[in-house]
Amino acid sequence: MRLNTQVGIVGAGPAGLMLGHLLHLNGIDSVIVENRSREYVIDRVRAGVLEHGTVDLLHAMGVGANLQRHGLRHDGVYISFQGQRHHINLTELTGGKAITVYGQNEVVKDLIEARIAITKCARSKSSVQRCQVSIFWKASEPVRKTSGTSGPRSLRISASVS
Ligand SMILES: Cc1cc2nc3c(=O)[nH]c(=O)nc-3n(C[C@H](O)[C@H](O)[C@H](O)COP(=O)(O)OP(=O)(O)OC[C@H]3O[C@@H](n4cnc5c(N)ncnc54)[C@H](O)[C@@H]3O)c2cc1C
Repeated sequence: MRLNTQVGIVGAGPAGLMLGHLLHLNGIDSVIVENRSREYVIDRVRAGVLEHGTVDLLHAMGVGANLQRHGLRHDGVYISFQGQRHHINLTELTGGKAITVYGQNEVVKDLIEARIAITKCARSKSSVQRCQVSIFWKASEPVRKTSGTSGPRSLRISASVS
């Protein structure tokens, strides 16, 4: 299958999904190609906390509803010293900032759902499929760049989709 789009993104991890959504919000088409299945990418257990700036960005991108509902804001830590427990309030010490406990699985799930909601592909009479926004899972051969020397706007990718 041949795809035609403005930007080709390799990998539907948090970075690829975030980039794809930011491009979409700025009116730029993109296709994400991922060599694992959707279930694998969602189930892959990794990070558990989000930095303050990431939380702000997810909200600004309009994908923070679940994060708002289920994320646990974490304001500081306790340190025990000579039999006494001391609370170090990191939020106070950093002018209101905090990390949020929210699994990377959930972030990835939210971003995939947001992307599916805006996915738009059209098949032309030729074999080239024009995609404004899409994700292709589990390509059975590695993504390769077939052209792109004239800059990112003319990047074309080939991928096998199972
Ligand atoms: C055990 C662990 C704990 C962590 N804890 C934290 C934490 O608490 N807080 C935090 O902020 N970070 C944490 N991290 C780091 C965080 O998980 C990574 O920074 C994050 O996953 C990076 O996202 P990414 O999208 O750049 O890469 P990835 O998540 O690795 O995504 C890359 C994607 O590209 C796909 N891919 C690769 N090659 C190809 C190819 N040729 N064609 C198609 N697809 C391809 C992969 O399958 C993958 O889905 C942790 C990581 C680990 C492993």
